[in-house]
Amino acid sequence: MSFKTNFQNVKGTKDILPEESIRWRKAEDIIRKKMMQYNFREIRFPTFESTELFRKSTGESTDIVKKEMFTFEDMGGRSLTLKPEGTPSVVRMFLQHGLFNKGVLQKFYYIERMFRQEKPQKGRYREFRQFGAEVIGSASAEIDAELVKSALDVFEDLNIEGIKLNINSIGCPVCRKDFIRKLKSFLKEKLPDLCEDCNRRYSENPMRILDCKKDKEKIKNAPFPLDFLCDDCKEHFEKFKSYLDYLGIKFNIDSGLVRGLDYYTKTVFEFVHPGLGSQNEVGGGGRYDELIGFMGGGDTPASGYAVGIDRLMLLLPEEEEKYDLDFYLVAFDSESGLLGWKILNELRDKGYSCDKDTMNRSIKAQFREADRQNAKWVIIIGEDERDKGVIQLKNMDKGEQKEVPMDIEKIIGEL
Ligand code: ATP
Ligand code: MG
Repeated sequence: MSFKTNFQNVKGTKDILPEESIRWRKAEDIIRKKMMQYNFREIRFPTFESTELFRKSTGESTDIVKKEMFTFEDMGGRSLTLKPEGTPSVVRMFLQHGLFNKGVLQKFYYIERMFRQEKPQKGRYREFRQFGAEVIGSASAEIDAELVKSALDVFEDLNIEGIKLNINSIGCPVCRKDFIRKLKSFLKEKLPDLCEDCNRRYSENPMRILDCKKDKEKIKNAPFPLDFLCDDCKEHFEKFKSYLDYLGIKFNIDSGLVRGLDYYTKTVFEFVHPGLGSQNEVGGGGRYDELIGFMGGGDTPASGYAVGIDRLMLLLPEEEEKYDLDFYLVAFDSESGLLGWKILNELRDKGYSCDKDTMNRSIKAQFREADRQNAKWVIIIGEDERDKGVIQLKNMDKGEQKEVPMDIEKIIGEL
């Protein structure tokens, strides 16, 4: 038999086949477990939101909003967008559902698919998965350190080595004014030499120029936010570093690390891994003390991060994954097949995984299938067994076989 199709998955999307799914599920289980140990509560949000939410919250001048969103109109002419990141939806949910009434401090996590219209390449897809954590209500640097630790713990539990932490502080609207003025005057004469994006950023979002990969060399003497921090921001950054030290977390201060929008404040951090090539960022985050106010809420500090699970999966140690099965039924005739089916269902009720042939295949083919399925035990039933009210129970590892009464408790007792 041959199968053919002209269809392929769309560029930038990924098919995850059964064996690979085992790795994904294990990774997701580790993430969930760790997030719960940190008392983050899970939230799930819709695949699309109104485009306006991202324009406002992610920010008009970001690459995401400028170039990467999958935006479409519904039949009523409303502009909708497939979510490119999680924070906007988390903040929307927090405000819309009045979650601020549930306590001054709220800790959330999510595992969600994200969509960005980017050039597909290793580690960069158009549909990808992230896990993220957001803590709303605390201005404390302790929370920033706790967030960092939670992500590092996940990497450790996944047995991924070599992820490095970069940190920085970008100050607050108070100290940023002075910084932006100095930065702009430094950049002014260099502009003709800088890339198109940086020229655009100059008027919209100048801090982001520090983040430009193309112009890195040309702006290496630029002023950095760290040099302009006000006393409050300075103290916050010192505390953040001392908490990281206290937790035994190594970090590198990268004074060029920024997030470009006014509502990002103080702490920023990223996790990088050299093994990923040019897509070396595994995750990133920071504080956004001004965002919730900007989105219509009261003055509420917050902090969070997002990690790309697809990139983590590229870093996971290779391990061969196999499915297995507790029981496979080998039946000599259709009546035995029906009787065995009942036993399998009783075993499933007890928590065992079971399967059987449904195509009247030969005994040999049924045994071959049991092998292919990695069955631990085979239950064999034929006319003799039915007459005697027994089954043959074969342990596939040991190759041993014994006769057991056709009784679910007795069968389980023999395992
Ligand atoms: P990059 O600089 O690689 O484009 P980013 O700054 O756009 O990353 P964030 O918006 O901070 O990334 O998202 C957090 C994480 O999500 C990234 O560190 C990365 O692991 C993952 N991520 C972002 N975009 C993609 C993508 N297109 N495909 C796969 N993973 C992605
Ligand atoms: Mg990006």
